[in-house]
Amino acid sequence: MAVNRTPFIAGNWKMNLDHLQAIALVQKLAFALAEAKHDPADAEVAVFPPFTDLRSVQTLVDADRLPIAYGGQDVSSHDSGAYTGEISGAFLAKLGARYVIIGHSERRTLHAESDELVNAKVLAAQKHGIVPVLCVGETAEDLEAHGASAVPVAQLRRALEGVDPAKEIVVAYEPVWAIGSGQAATPEQAQQVGAALRAVLAEVLGPDVAASTRILYGGSVKSSNIASFLREPDVDGALVGGASLDVDEFSAIVRFKKHVGA
Ligand code: PEP
Repeated sequence: MAVNRTPFIAGNWKMNLDHLQAIALVQKLAFALAEAKHDPADAEVAVFPPFTDLRSVQTLVDADRLPIAYGGQDVSSHDSGAYTGEISGAFLAKLGARYVIIGHSERRTLHAESDELVNAKVLAAQKHGIVPVLCVGETAEDLEAHGASAVPVAQLRRALEGVDPAKEIVVAYEPVWAIGSGQAATPEQAQQVGAALRAVLAEVLGPDVAASTRILYGGSVKSSNIASFLREPDVDGALVGGASLDVDEFSAIVRFKKHVGA
């Protein structure tokens, strides 16, 4: 399989922006990228708005053929039925969602999502043709007790159970202590864990899949540090939280090559 790891810059909006604000942000982002003559071969761009915004984002992206992908921030492990408040992968697929974030640390901690549930969600997303952006990462306590790689590696191994190697997946390494803290991991740590995650991908899904799977870093990414991460061989992009709500900052992250001389 040819190795094609186009850098991937993904914006996780979390529970921010209603559907009208979502339209405004996507329009501004598209304008900023067009003005900068952004080449999608330099970086694929995706946004992850709240569920209630997805239909509006879809309409805008389709109408103007914008080079911006979008996805959900979570997905149910079930297809349909008596699961109040849940969103099926089938519904996301119907809205043209190409990706879905699964296993974000805020879901693992605030909603007690287990590795088993995360695995079920990965399988459910792929069943509906949606690419999971699978988040793994260690807490500060894990880092202290076991080093950086042990927990993310164990989470990835568990999440990949039963996964078909032919179906795409994106892995996001997000140290929990770096999310929203303003204190990013070092590029060296991101690389060390990225390499360990790629080794798990090779072992479980095979070397070709490992070589072509994108591994993102997430945790306090900004335009001033993005290039240092993307210089690492096992970091293929970024999952961006807070900075994705600021169009100038997010588009500067997307244009990391031009802005920071990577
Ligand atoms: C995130 O929530 O996935 C994230 C990386 O947040 P932030 O960029 O704000 O640290």
